[in-house]
Amino acid sequence: MKTQQIIAELRRKNEMSQDEFAAKLFVTRQAVSRWENGETVPNTDTLKLMSKVFGVSINTILGQPRNTICQVCGMPLDDEGNYSKETDGSINDKYCKWCYVDGVHAYTNMEDVISEVIKHQNWGTPEQMQEFLRKQLAGLEYWQK
Ligand SMILES: [Zn+2]
Repeated sequence: MKTQQIIAELRRKNEMSQDEFAAKLFVTRQAVSRWENGETVPNTDTLKLMSKVFGVSINTILGQPRNTICQVCGMPLDDEGNYSKETDGSINDKYCKWCYVDGVHAYTNMEDVISEVIKHQNWGTPEQMQEFLRKQLAGLEYWQK
């Protein structure tokens, strides 16, 4: 979907008129109308505010692919619910809310994540789970630096 359609849908889903939507984002109704007509796209500050106000990630608004699993622990990121947030309240769709808290990464050591994840899983032996998770996590962006 294109940004213009996504914005229009977001506004309708929240049952807002263009005026109400504009007021929430501190822009004019004309600005909203231009977004929905595809003439302009919101600037970065407005995108952040939209993310914060409506609880959707900036990638979602821009119609870009987003991460479907947390890039630290591998947990599936569901429909925005367990995404982390930046300190300004905008959604970060790379990490879950347990791995990235108040703008800070909760884990710097993969073994800490693994022992945490294992507590919530129940299959095989701890050694099997560790081996599996080490392989899975090694493929995630966060651990590739
Ligand atoms: Zn995570």
